[in-house]
Formats: sequence, C-alpha cells, structure tokens
Amino acid sequence: MKNKIIVCPFLCLLLLLGCSKNSTVEHPNPKQEIGENTQTIHYGSNYVESIQYPKTDVDALDKVIQQTIKNKKKDFLKRVEPFEEERKAEFNVTYESYLKDKRYISVVLFFYDTIYEEKEHIKTFVYDKKKETFLSFEDIYDKEELATLSALVTSYFRERFPQECDQDTFRTHTSAIVTNFVNFALTKAKLTIYFAKGTLFEEEATFSIGYEEIADATSMKNETAQVVVPYGDILNEPVKNIDPKKPMVALTFDDGPTRRYTTAILDALKENNASATFFVLGSRAKNAPDVLQRMILEGSEIGNHSYSHKQLTTLSKENIKEEISEAQESIYNITHRYPKIIRPPYGSKNDTLLQCANGKKIVTWTLDTSDWRTKDAKTIVEYVMDKVKNNDIILMHDLYASSAQAAVILIPKLKEAGYQLVTVSELYAYQ
Ligand code: ZN
Repeated sequence: MKNKIIVCPFLCLLLLLGCSKNSTVEHPNPKQEIGENTQTIHYGSNYVESIQYPKTDVDALDKVIQQTIKNKKKDFLKRVEPFEEERKAEFNVTYESYLKDKRYISVVLFFYDTIYEEKEHIKTFVYDKKKETFLSFEDIYDKEELATLSALVTSYFRERFPQECDQDTFRTHTSAIVTNFVNFALTKAKLTIYFAKGTLFEEEATFSIGYEEIADATSMKNETAQVVVPYGDILNEPVKNIDPKKPMVALTFDDGPTRRYTTAILDALKENNASATFFVLGSRAKNAPDVLQRMILEGSEIGNHSYSHKQLTTLSKENIKEEISEAQESIYNITHRYPKIIRPPYGSKNDTLLQCANGKKIVTWTLDTSDWRTKDAKTIVEYVMDKVKNNDIILMHDLYASSAQAAVILIPKLKEAGYQLVTVSELYAYQ
C-alpha cells in the first residue's frame, strides 16, 4: 500500500510533464518572444553561475547558442582557476529573443562575469527560418548606406550623452564600417543594434530604429501584428486556517517560473491544501503570467529573486536597486501585488543589499536540499524527511524535473508528519 502512495504522484507527474511538453508555450514577455527559457545554476568552489538561454525549434541555432556559451564558460573557468577570495566569482548569461514575420529569429546573448573585475560581452544571432541560414548585417542592410546609419547612431547618442560622444572610442565605434554593427536583432518593428560595454561608452548601449526610417537600406518591413496579453485582476485569495501551536515549515522554490515544473508543484500544493513560496526571476515572470496568478489565487506567496539572477553583492548600489525594482515591477504588472520578501541569488547578502531592500525582508533558508546538485527525487525526499524541523525554510528550485518530482512526494509526506505547509511571510508572522 505504501508503495502505491509513493508511485502514484510520480505517474501523475509523468503524465503532466508529457502533456505540457506538447502544449503551446505562450511568450508574452516582449523581450523573450521565442524559445523555451532554459536555465542552469551551479555553485562552484570559488564561483557561482547562472545561465539562461532559449531552446528554439531550430537545431542549427540551438547548436551555436550552446556552443558559444560553452566556449565562454571554458574561458571563464580558465581565468577563475587561480581565484581565491572570500567572495565568489560569478558567471552569468541572460538573453533576449525576437521573432519577426514568423521567419526571422534573433537571439541576443548577454555575458557577464566577475573575477577580479566585471566583464561584459554581447553576441547576437539572426536566423532566417525560410532560407534556413544565419543572416549577417550585410545580408539585411545595404553596405552603401552605412554612412547614413553611422550618422543616425551618432546624432541619437549625441543628443542624449553630448559629453561622452566626443571620445575617440565613440567615433571609432560609430564609423561607417560594418564591423561596428555586427551585433543586431530584428524585432517586429525595429532594427536594434547592440554596442558592448567599453565600445561606445563605459556601459552597454543599444540603438533601435523603425524599418520605415531606413527603407533605402533594408527591405525589412514593420510587422504590425501585436501580441496582446490581458492580465485579469486577481480576486478571492483563499482564507487559511493556520494553527500557531502546531509545527510548520515553508517550502520555497527559486529561479522559476518554468511552466512545466512550477505547474506540477502547484497541482500538488492544491491537492494537499498546502502553500509554498516561489522566488521568481523578474526576467522569467512574463513567460508564465498565468502561473504567477495561480500562485496567488491558490494561497502561495511570490518573492523577489532579482531580475537577472546576478550576485547582488558584487553590484553597485544603483544596479542592486535596479535588479530589485525591475523584478518588483514585472511581478506587480502580472499579479497587482508587490512581493514583500527578497531572496538574493545564491543567498549572497551584504549591508548595501539590506539598504536597498527598502523594508522588504531578506530571506535565505534553514534547510538546503541541494536539489540542483543531486537531481534525484528520492535523495531529496529522504534528506528533507531526515533533517526537517519546526519553522524550517526549505530551499528547492522549480527548474528541474527531479525537484518537481520530489516536491510532489514531499508535500503530502510533510503534512503526514504533522507539518503545516505555509508561506515564508506566514512563517515569520507566527514564529
Ligand atoms: Zn536562484
């Protein structure tokens, strides 16, 4: 009998995973229009790592994306090897992806690493699905018209940053040669050119221009079809009966939402009348707005896990604030609620971060399941059931099938063991 209870959730989950694989994944995120958002995290002995990239339906494109990341990481690993400091070095990859005319896929990879100092790099790929080939800038833009583009870029930035534009580097990197414009993307209405950090300015810069304004140089046309995603308001949050005298724990899931795994966890929570806390990434929130709404509607809590999963302790005060507020806004836009808690990526915190939290609680954990490392549901379940105690905050990630499988088993098991499954804010309120 006992076996049956354990096997059943596995089967349910497998069925669920099977189904969601075939269902259409919507992409209401205006900066991630195409590809399945894929993320890996890793804690090395002297560095931390978060890599996000899209998996598209084009093998050739996926291959170069993954190879580019692999090469960058190889280079990072070589440089990080002798690094021995108390703070951890970091390797971070984020992306934007665009689809135009159901034909042109543009993927922009943003590389960021810090060992002794910050390094940033941008790499773009534009793929033509119809011709089954990659497009270079010269393929879409008439070389004879480069002087016009150079003038447009120059006047755009001169207007905004008059002082910085007099530098030699600025002039060199805006001159009418094609190598200045190799990092580009085709969005539905605009050509966007990316200038890496240290080319035009100290910071990275982008320049976008409507196709009609460069009609002499390109045959690209504005795609007018707009994707509209209405976010309905959330009503009727459940009222809960929590007994402050009985033991309670807070299950927490970082780095989502992922439609496939987060949904499976939400199903198990709902079935067991339980709650959890999801520390979502601002950059991913818009990928699954309905999943975020479901979290709130079904009594779970959403926390802020930054916008792009950078190690906040290595950023400037201004950039920490931006990482937090961008995530706050993207979650608010969907749920009409601002998160009250923040879990910094990798759990790294310092005084600057505390100042930037602006009254929101910084939450780490008391029980680390290491689910990202073991990737084995049975090990995770056994570890938690062995270690768990009253008022624990349990760290998991809704990024992996094994973590979702473990959660599906753990949720009823913890309840059976007498624990109320509450959100982090509820736990704090009753502690
Ligand atoms: Zn994380």
